[in-house]
Amino acid sequence: MCGVVGLIGEPKAGQKLYPALFALQHRGQDAAGILSYDFEKSQFHLEKDLGLVEDVFTDERQQRLKGSMALGHTRYSTIGTVDKEDLQPLFLSYPYGIGMIHNGNVTNYDEVVDYLRHRKLRWTFSRNDLEILLHMTAVGLAARKETGSLSENLAASIKELLTHVQGAYSAIGMLADQGMFAFCDANGIRPLLIGRKKNGANYSYCFASEKQVFFGLGYEYWRDMRAGELVLVDKDLQLHSFVLSEKKPKPCMFEWIYFAGSETEWHGRPVYEVRLKLGQILAEECLAQGLDVDVVAPVPDTSRAAACRLAEVLEKPYREVLIKNRYVQRSFIVNQPELRKMMVNLKLSPVESEIRGKKILLVDDSIVRGTTSARIIRLLREAGAEKVYLASTCPPIRHPCFYGIDFPDGESLVAFKKSEADVAKVLEVDGLVYLPLSRLKEGLGLNDFCSACLDGDYPVPVSSENFLKTRHQNIGGDGKSEVPL
Ligand code: SF4
Repeated sequence: MCGVVGLIGEPKAGQKLYPALFALQHRGQDAAGILSYDFEKSQFHLEKDLGLVEDVFTDERQQRLKGSMALGHTRYSTIGTVDKEDLQPLFLSYPYGIGMIHNGNVTNYDEVVDYLRHRKLRWTFSRNDLEILLHMTAVGLAARKETGSLSENLAASIKELLTHVQGAYSAIGMLADQGMFAFCDANGIRPLLIGRKKNGANYSYCFASEKQVFFGLGYEYWRDMRAGELVLVDKDLQLHSFVLSEKKPKPCMFEWIYFAGSETEWHGRPVYEVRLKLGQILAEECLAQGLDVDVVAPVPDTSRAAACRLAEVLEKPYREVLIKNRYVQRSFIVNQPELRKMMVNLKLSPVESEIRGKKILLVDDSIVRGTTSARIIRLLREAGAEKVYLASTCPPIRHPCFYGIDFPDGESLVAFKKSEADVAKVLEVDGLVYLPLSRLKEGLGLNDFCSACLDGDYPVPVSSENFLKTRHQNIGGDGKSEVPL
């Protein structure tokens, strides 16, 4: 998963993306990059590196990002490596000069690489999915450059791309002297939103993974990108839209449950409101199971809203029994195992005075590999909890995700081929309450969404064996970007 943002028609766009990227830091902490374009000098400026946004963009680097059109990216590596050649934005010089960023995974990568090599004589340099999206766009535009309008040529090129490239991706690109474009995969699995701000008779536009970016930039949230949609904003700030797929949208349910910031919304469903509703449903399930609870506590940060509502419905005190250390972010870069373990332990510390002798109902957004849950449960017991119950706002995750959330190996999932009672035994918890899969539609307030990791119904077919063998690199991914699962 990654965070993407694109801005056109805004003075100092590249420099303004630096603060905007802070609003997307939670979507990726491995690396960050900005590519800007100066229409007056016909010049690109690119700055990208490993690290957090504030580490990458020194004052000097910010000053170099000139121009009124820019792309920004925060990277979380689920495919490829955390090496420099995989960092985004990527750039190709022909045709026009194209820069691009994306969020998501391609599921038929080898097939597309083969097509590019043998049919189009194009070679890729990295293992980054974005590179093939970039080449496919370039191939389409190069073949049509001499005829037709840019918008028609781009629409035909992206339509071809959507046919050839399977998976879940949202991408934003820019063309030298031409403008900015954005597109989503045929099923609209990954989020991309459009914001705008009045600019004379026209609008300046912003594309972003999440809505809070618009707030930070002084833009209004206008609408979501549709499944299979291409939007081009040309250099005169005229917007052209093409819907290139007739498939039903299948937005990733995990965005609401875990990944997205609480302040965003998608498909008209505010994330915070959804999380409150999930807490309500969980409370009803807890009541049905007759759990004897003293306090309700969230696993910070995502599950706070659900835990608040759950406590209200159960009429039990809400307490913070685990404190997250916001300064311990990237423990994977610590090389000594002993120090790394200490860093992981320090991410969450128990508040013993609120734990000792209590029957605690812990609320988490999801249980993926179960390693974090088991560790937290042990932590609460060692701090003197009388009983520990666990409630998850996500139904049991029993199938891998190949679409950009990092759990592509089914066997690593704690609920893989297990009943809920078996999972409770593995986690050594006194009671386990999952949100029932049958109530997820009610919780999200949506009828159609991707829930493949819960029910195995994949909107884009993929060979699990092949994907694991050829795509999943050893990058230290854990499915959640902040806390190992
Ligand atoms: S499989 Fe699960 S995590 Fe992956 S896109 Fe679908 S709903 Fe999201």
